[in-house]
Amino acid sequence: MDFNTGPALLAIALGGLGLLAGSFLGLVSLRLPRGEGFVGGRSRCRGCDRPLDPWRLIPVLSYAVSRGRCAACGAAIPIRYPAMELAGAAIGLCAALTQPSILAALLTALLGWQLLLIAVVDGEHFWLPDQLTLPLLGTGILAAAVLDRLSVAGALTGAGVGLAGLWLVGRAYRRIRGREGLGGGDPFLLAAGGAWTGWTGLPSVLLWAALGGLSVVAARLLTGGRISGSDRLPFGVFLALGVWLTWLLGPLGLPR
Ligand SMILES: [Zn+2]
Repeated sequence: MDFNTGPALLAIALGGLGLLAGSFLGLVSLRLPRGEGFVGGRSRCRGCDRPLDPWRLIPVLSYAVSRGRCAACGAAIPIRYPAMELAGAAIGLCAALTQPSILAALLTALLGWQLLLIAVVDGEHFWLPDQLTLPLLGTGILAAAVLDRLSVAGALTGAGVGLAGLWLVGRAYRRIRGREGLGGGDPFLLAAGGAWTGWTGLPSVLLWAALGGLSVVAARLLTGGRISGSDRLPFGVFLALGVWLTWLLGPLGLPR
């Protein structure tokens, strides 16, 4: 592959693939919490239940052309569809532009798309299903096996430390406050993150997650909202962000 056109082609390919991935993930994020299957079945307008014309499945463009409305009934098409598609494309581009090889870029995009789905489902439903966190653990071990960032043993150690760490934090919180502080899926998400980043990446994952959570709290306070000790934050969203940044930037304070 030509040295100059190679990276550009990869960026176009992964950006385009990201649009499709985002479109598919948007569907999964709606159907999974309802217990519906997401393979097969035509997409329908949520307003009038008419099956969507095939061209309406073209990411982003169809939303722009129809100005965000169903052609049949005029119902607003939720902005989450094009938003997921653009996020998927951004993840693909980011993977293509930051990684040293095509394989690393593909796996990085796969990580990002999985984290996007997990963040959206947790953000909307406070739910981190094992159907999403366990595959993330699996792809982390796969990435360790085929990339030379981490050994498989390192990935498994990271997963074990992540699981044990957050489980202990959850237990301690329950002892001190007398109620659940973490969702049941949080340890599995951190375990999966540990499989990707290795155990040395876990402090960075938690630090990014804490910074993300605190900035949301600060933003709410600044905009006049109230925060009480019983408010819930979808911690999985911030953990997902932490895993993504740690994968891209490396563990904070350690050379890559
Ligand atoms: Zn409609």
